[in-house]
Formats: sequence, C-alpha cells, structure tokens
Amino acid sequence: MSKIFLHPRLDNGYSYEEDPSFSGGTLKCLCENNPVEVAVEAQTMHNHACGCSKCWKPEGAIFSLVAVVGRENVKVLKNEDKLQIVDESSIIQRYACKDCGAHLFGRIENKDHAFYGLDFVHTELSDEKGGQHLNSQGLFLQ
Ligand SMILES: [Zn+2]
Ligand SMILES: [Zn+2]
Repeated sequence: MSKIFLHPRLDNGYSYEEDPSFSGGTLKCLCENNPVEVAVEAQTMHNHACGCSKCWKPEGAIFSLVAVVGRENVKVLKNEDKLQIVDESSIIQRYACKDCGAHLFGRIENKDHAFYGLDFVHTELSDEKGGQHLNSQGLFLQ
C-alpha cells in the first residue's frame, strides 16, 4: 500500500497561522536555471485545496493549493517568455512555465465573471513564510 498524499503541505501538518506582517513574496517555477519569477505584492486570500484536474499541483499530490490575490499585485519579474497559457478555452487562463510545467498564476479575463480582478496563485512556489493562510471555504472553478 502506498501512502496517499493529499499535498505535501497538508500531509506534513499545515500551519493555519497567518502572519499579518506578510505582504507578499516571489513565486518561482521549478526550473533550476532561469526560473520564471513572479512578484505577488500583497497578502493572498482564500488559500484552499482544489481537487480539480486543471490546477497545478506537485508530483504525487491529489489536491492543489490555490490562493487568490488582486491581479494588480501580480507582476512577472523574470523569464516571461517561458510562460504559456495552458488552456485558452478555460475560464481561468493559467500561465505555466513551458519547461517545468509549474503554473505561476491564473487570470480571469472575462470582466463579467465573479472573480474577475483576482489572480490564482500557488503560494508554495514562494520561499517566503506567512503567506499560507488556509481557508476552509473552497472555490471550485474549472
Ligand atoms: Zn520552469
Ligand atoms: Zn482547481
């Protein structure tokens, strides 16, 4: 029997503490050389586990951890040319690294959508601590 991994952050005991001084961080893809870097310049909200098939998750994980942050606070710093949209027909345009496959952020371009203005990010791609505020309310979007 193999152990079922929900997600490394959940299986290893999740911190529910939010550091109020946290004001953002830099997301990096998994490439060892020339990683894509994306600045998140605000505290993220609604960090939740998502079990859909489209959200990026680490190897072996069943759930993805996704948080939202205002799109004006998300800026690509490095290697933007490595980003591509995973599925242009999806409501969420997920920008992934062409080389390692990690999703750096997801963006909704439909101004009529309830979540327009919010980008979806995986805070585990950031080294900074304190940004992992897990919210029990899930947002399930395809
Ligand atoms: Zn990469
Ligand atoms: Zn999902």
